[in-house]
Amino acid sequence: MAHYDIQRIRNDFPILAATIYDKPLIYLDNGATTQKPQSVIDAISQYYSTLNSNVHRGVHYLSQRATDAFEASRKKLQVFLNSLHDHEIIFTRGTTESINLVAACYGKAFVNAGDEIIISALEHHSNMVPWQMLCEDIGATLKIIPITDAGELDMDAFRLLLNDRVKLVAVAYISNSLGTINPVREIIKLAHGYDIPVLLDAAQAVQHVPIDVQELDVDFLAFSGHKMYGPTGIGVLYGKEKWLNKMPPYQGGGEMIKRVTFEKTTYNELPFKFEAGTPNIEGVICLSAAVDYLNDIGLANIYTYEHELLEYATNALLDIPELRLVGTATEKSSVISFLIGNVHPYDVGVILDKLGIAVRTGHHCTEPLMDRLCIPGTVRASLALYTTVDDIDTLVEGIKKAASMLLA
Ligand code: PMP
Repeated sequence: MAHYDIQRIRNDFPILAATIYDKPLIYLDNGATTQKPQSVIDAISQYYSTLNSNVHRGVHYLSQRATDAFEASRKKLQVFLNSLHDHEIIFTRGTTESINLVAACYGKAFVNAGDEIIISALEHHSNMVPWQMLCEDIGATLKIIPITDAGELDMDAFRLLLNDRVKLVAVAYISNSLGTINPVREIIKLAHGYDIPVLLDAAQAVQHVPIDVQELDVDFLAFSGHKMYGPTGIGVLYGKEKWLNKMPPYQGGGEMIKRVTFEKTTYNELPFKFEAGTPNIEGVICLSAAVDYLNDIGLANIYTYEHELLEYATNALLDIPELRLVGTATEKSSVISFLIGNVHPYDVGVILDKLGIAVRTGHHCTEPLMDRLCIPGTVRASLALYTTVDDIDTLVEGIKKAASMLLA
């Protein structure tokens, strides 16, 4: 891509200049967390040196400025996702908390014994266990969309699962283990045909593809700041106003109340109803710097760049005779999972680490998916907007070395 200045982008990330065991760092664990650009690092320091104060309750200057910055970040997220209202943006600790919030609050308001919730076979535990817990508590049933051997959802099976007992469909936009991009528009359309709302786990999507919640017509969308070049400990739940208004609060405490007496408490309006206690002020304000960073490059440009890189990497890896790709969906993004012969993924990961290459090994918090594929786990290389062709070439050389050592 001619206009994608990869060197300039890499210069924005100080950690990418690091050496590991005297080798240049090749960071390919972006699915777990991304590195941070200098602008986000500076925003954190700036916040504590110039703005630190509690939000929403102070009359004094600093508190008002911190509140303005906090709410400006909410607005920025609204524009980023193109949500209809800024109060549809709820700040949470991350994807996990966003999904737990919906399971707890939507579950309380809308799910009863005998009802059904649909997830898929490739979900992260974060989009599985909260629904399992809800179903166990309430006496509802969890239904699973099966996948093909390539790691694509079986959409015919999905159609058959839909009926009037289903109260929610919760699926990943992009699989963290396989990279499959799920046909979310079709899923939403089919579910809405039965008036069933859809939650998208966008933890692996929001940093790779442009997302417009109104265009998608999605009901809930969850993601984490730390996977989109922002701080850790901050995340977002987008929810349509019509659902959020009908859901009870998540936690009780300060901020989420309108009036408290010993006899009765009335709750605050959106979004504060779901944001009990002092929020992660630093996280919210600095997430805004991450959104600016993504906007400056442009998600459409990022998608094109990463897609070309994924194709390059897939072809290069397929040249290694002992390597088997895990997850070969037609629509994929930024994640390459693989196995080398019968070697345990961990052993490959350890050798790559000694070469300065950071990959992830194991089940990637998708144990049922690994069971379905009859494997203990995979080696996963996950790409980011700063990954280079050279990174991929070094990975390929590293894998060849690991294969020659482990298969000897
Ligand atoms: N869903 C998916 C698809 C993920 O990849 C992850 C993180 N690996 C999560 C949920 C959980 O995100 P977090 O730990 O930031 O809450």
